[in-house]
Amino acid sequence: MQKTVTVGGGRRVRWSNKAKRRALAVMYPSGNPFLDLCMWKGRFPARKAQFCTEELKTNMAVAFQLNLMEAGHRVVSWQGVRRDESENRKNARLFERIGRGLYAFRPLVEWTAAQVFARCRSAGMRPNPLYLQGMGRVGCMPCINCNKSELRAIAARFPAHPARIAEWEQLVGQCSKRGYSTFMADAHPAKDRRVVFADLNIWARIEWSKTSRGGRQFNLLDEEENSTQGCSSSYGLCDQGGLAVALEEGFA
Ligand code: SF4
Repeated sequence: MQKTVTVGGGRRVRWSNKAKRRALAVMYPSGNPFLDLCMWKGRFPARKAQFCTEELKTNMAVAFQLNLMEAGHRVVSWQGVRRDESENRKNARLFERIGRGLYAFRPLVEWTAAQVFARCRSAGMRPNPLYLQGMGRVGCMPCINCNKSELRAIAARFPAHPARIAEWEQLVGQCSKRGYSTFMADAHPAKDRRVVFADLNIWARIEWSKTSRGGRQFNLLDEEENSTQGCSSSYGLCDQGGLAVALEEGFA
């Protein structure tokens, strides 16, 4: 039984000496900032604890902007967010004053994804090839927020990435107080960490990604549709019209 300590209104698992020794034995710089951050935190990020974005992107951008402001510049941060991207962004404003001397400008805020791709095409810009291969977002490979179909596409097309994530789960797990951590977090009723890890590790999630709604039945149709032979853009770039345009212009 792991010892816990009361913090605020809840209880947290305490570091045991054994867990500290286990973590210190593997906690060396890996050369990969995302992995180093997860080892340091003793866990992978999650939707409600998205420290990856904060530590690896936001804080750096803010530090850069603060330096400019201290040097006497007025800073306008151009951001490519769209309102229809997510619930969090649905009220994003075109222009906003963030603070004294710091503003945000979001020129694409009213655009749809289709309009963005059409504008790029008209300017002769190719979409990232991953958008033609079933990815809805292009960031980390994979992103902790990737959805079921993206995970299935990644496993089918880029099997080296799940294998790398499985190695990371071992490393980050050793740096964790509980002794395990899974790349794709989810609520789980079990208390036994071995049961939770067995159900939520990357290979289990990939098996789940091949199932239909509810996660109990294999979805053979999706298997067929998302095989490496197929074309499955999340943005319709590979539908008949989109694929024809892409092929014509050398995108596919
Ligand atoms: S792409 Fe996903 S995993 Fe990577 S930093 Fe952004 S939110 Fe985190």
